[in-house]
Amino acid sequence: MDQLQLFDVLAVEPAGDGAPPLDECAAVLPIDDAVERRFWQRVVKSSTCWWWVGAISTPDGYGRITWRRKNHQRALSAHRFALTIAAGAEIADEAVAEHLCNQPLCVRVGAGHLQVGTQAENVAYAVATGRHRGPRLVSATNRCSQSLAVRAYLLGGGDPDKVGQHTSRIEPTLF
Ligand SMILES: [Zn+2]
Repeated sequence: MDQLQLFDVLAVEPAGDGAPPLDECAAVLPIDDAVERRFWQRVVKSSTCWWWVGAISTPDGYGRITWRRKNHQRALSAHRFALTIAAGAEIADEAVAEHLCNQPLCVRVGAGHLQVGTQAENVAYAVATGRHRGPRLVSATNRCSQSLAVRAYLLGGGDPDKVGQHTSRIEPTLF
């Protein structure tokens, strides 16, 4: 009798396929359709960059999306969220997002915009394009100011195709 019960339990267990059991206490809340819809409602597409106009985290100046399910909450930077849904799977923690367009609010995945890279590649690319000038010059505060200005411009009806050309012009009007 005991042997039969043991056999039944073993028979219904997946044979080591690595799929974790559903766990409401899991640290990671998967992205679902509702969160993904909410994400796209906060994106203004232009012919070049796709601009995130939702929450911006301070002081780093990157877009941020937060969602809750039951009693759990998860937040991701908007560009990492975009990369995750484009990949269709969670991306590795050590992977970093590269903004080849140098626009921190851009969430367009693909050539010339967003891609997954390593930190080393990201720094190498930044050095090559002159974006990396030491820790002081490209400060998070400046990036945050710029992000807030871009968002205000777009939410105020600004032309999304002109953000890239006019970021330095719209910045002083806000600060
Ligand atoms: Zn872009």
